[in-house]
Amino acid sequence: MNAALLIDASYFIAAFLFIYGLKRMSSPLTARSGIVVAGAGMVLAVLASFLYTLDVNDAAKPFLSTNLTLAIIALALGLGWAWRSGKKVAMTEMPQMVALYNGMGGGAAAAIAAIELIGYKTHSSVSLTLAVLGGVIGAVSLSGSLIAWAKLDGRINKTLRFSGLQAVNGSLLLLLLAIGAYIVWHGGVVAIPVFALFFVLALVYGVMMTMPIGGADMPVVISLYNAFTGLAVGFEGYVLNNPALMIAGMVVGSAGSLLTLLMAKAMNRSVANVLFSNFGAAGDEEQGEMEGSQKPVDAGDAGINMRYATKVIIAPGYGLAVAQAQHKLYELVKLLQDADVEVKFAIHPVAGRMPGHMNVLLAEAGVPYDIIYDMEDINNEFKEADVAIVIGANDTVNPAARSNKSSPIYGMPILNVDQAKQVYVVKRGQGKGYSGVENALFYADNTQMVYGDAQKVMVSMIQAIKSLGGGH
Ligand code: NDP
Repeated sequence: MNAALLIDASYFIAAFLFIYGLKRMSSPLTARSGIVVAGAGMVLAVLASFLYTLDVNDAAKPFLSTNLTLAIIALALGLGWAWRSGKKVAMTEMPQMVALYNGMGGGAAAAIAAIELIGYKTHSSVSLTLAVLGGVIGAVSLSGSLIAWAKLDGRINKTLRFSGLQAVNGSLLLLLLAIGAYIVWHGGVVAIPVFALFFVLALVYGVMMTMPIGGADMPVVISLYNAFTGLAVGFEGYVLNNPALMIAGMVVGSAGSLLTLLMAKAMNRSVANVLFSNFGAAGDEEQGEMEGSQKPVDAGDAGINMRYATKVIIAPGYGLAVAQAQHKLYELVKLLQDADVEVKFAIHPVAGRMPGHMNVLLAEAGVPYDIIYDMEDINNEFKEADVAIVIGANDTVNPAARSNKSSPIYGMPILNVDQAKQVYVVKRGQGKGYSGVENALFYADNTQMVYGDAQKVMVSMIQAIKSLGGGH
């Protein structure tokens, strides 16, 4: 058996499956199968790694590696944990899970770097440099992702800010780079405490870089760390001479970078602004008092009004996911359609807590794609709508982003729901959006508030419409 050939062929197929899977993930129609395809690629790559342990020249002693038992224990633990947590994770906790898994990836890349550096023997200076870079990026990604996870999960509510913070972080980074250069300069032959200091500083830097960033920006930060992890894995793949790691790392690195840029663009902000501004951490001290009052309306009355409308546009947000109201919402949509109401969905690119969050949610409920519109395709239609109904969305429909220069979300493109003749906002109470900003829409003359959990409100609306019987 030629193990080397088998390994190469497996890696080639795995790389193909990663890229093909990613391609399929780009549409909600094929996304599920894309994940399965990429997962199959990962299984193949992991299995192929075991071929390294075969001693092809000695049939009596089939396994070279004494680490086989450890590897199998690690795999079993990882598989068990991932299987359990993947099964029970709620849709709303998905960003936390991504943060954790991403951190693990960064940590694994840093661990490979540590082993390669400490056991350094014959690497070229290129691979030594990449090992150092991969090590630092992986370690930053590990500790940074863990802080991001803790912030998203509400375990850390503080944003660390003090004057001179950027100077401290800048000095830390310089020190890290200096130690990295020292390691490369000495051909990797340095004392163990130097390596230890290098990795500890990288971990500290990840914490210091993430602590000042507000909770509302965590999804962007996670995406950035995702790109970091990809880069680190790609570098370590080069060091290990492992093409599967190189390709997987590059794919994750470039996809993560693109996603980071897209998310920042959707909020009309630069990545630097996300990293170094105080968005979502300051609250709304500078916004001034709201004019007018919030006007409540009964869910049933709002439902009946929609039943007699000609055109209704739905703007879903994070609260829809929290309430898991997507199935009831689609039931309501079908009732309205049966009564000849034209119904469309308007999706803001950062509605929810991750890109595509709303599309996934609506797809889960079976909402057909041809009534789901991206923001730029539907924004001009709100002024023709009789009713715009906002369900658990807040920041993404806040007109302050258009008009209030002192608002922290000023400049972020929003859904023009305020231009509809009548606006209904479904939310539980006076809670603010994720950015902590008050919403002028809720106080507008043409807005009425339907207070309650989104799922319960949907049920009340459905009942009210059904009680009317058929006909338009
Ligand atoms: P928001 O997070 O701004 O607001 C959600 C609203 O839902 C809250 O006001 C809350 O009000 C309401 N809500 C919560 N639970 C329920 C429930 N069970 N039933 C009914 N309503 C509920 O949502 P958006 O989707 O509009 O905005 C997304 C935010 O996330 C933006 O700030 C965006 O920048 C940020 N973000 C998103 C990213 C992405 O990729 N999607 C990436 C980065 C940032 P109440 O408590 O009163 O019920």
